[in-house]
Amino acid sequence: MQKGKIGVTTENIFPIIKKFLYSDHEIFLRELISNAVDATTKLKALSSMGEFGGELGDLTIRVELDEKGKKLTVSDRGVGMTEEEVNKYINQIAFSGAEEFMKKYENQSGIIGHFGLGFYSAFMVASKVEVITKSYREGAQAVKWACDGTPDFTLEPTDKAERGTDIVLYLAEDSAEFGEKTRIEALLKKYCSFLPVPIAFGKEQK
Ligand code: ADP
Ligand code: MG
Repeated sequence: MQKGKIGVTTENIFPIIKKFLYSDHEIFLRELISNAVDATTKLKALSSMGEFGGELGDLTIRVELDEKGKKLTVSDRGVGMTEEEVNKYINQIAFSGAEEFMKKYENQSGIIGHFGLGFYSAFMVASKVEVITKSYREGAQAVKWACDGTPDFTLEPTDKAERGTDIVLYLAEDSAEFGEKTRIEALLKKYCSFLPVPIAFGKEQK
């Protein structure tokens, strides 16, 4: 298992994310689905360019809610990420985005709604986030990244049968509303109609 600190100069960005994006907490779902769509679209492109020779299979993006466990999962069968890519795209890039966010906030107000915080917006509603991902590349080792809202993360090899990414949100106590089926259904309708990849919402059978 690899342990490390996310590259962040700000003491702890998470309270800031929570505070300034407060009214817009629900956009986390749009951000996660849009990443899942991007990952799926990339795989389709690689396939048509002949750089991915495997079966595309069912590319449906699945949103699953475990109401009892207060867990929300967004799964895609897109490109996935290698360990190296998680380090590069999740641990570093996202926080350079957060730094940029801070700089903008210092200089002007009213920009918050326009700044896409992307993946890290998950921490507006989750006390812990896991990324379980397996790259489309042949022989790729699946990895699991976990972070509980501090700059500390863990990253370790894991078992995952299928290519793609599962983003697992352990909903925070003050975000219980997102553990309700009707709320998620309404959000999917609001933000996720007319996407180039089918989205399915089903209750997790657990
Ligand atoms: P952006 O989407 O603007 O690049 P994000 O913070 O939303 O920024 O995501 C950061 C990066 O993490 C993405 O560019 C991508 O490389 C990677 N990533 C996030 N979600 C997924 C996913 N579901 N599958 C593959 N890669 C992902
Ligand atoms: Mg994104």
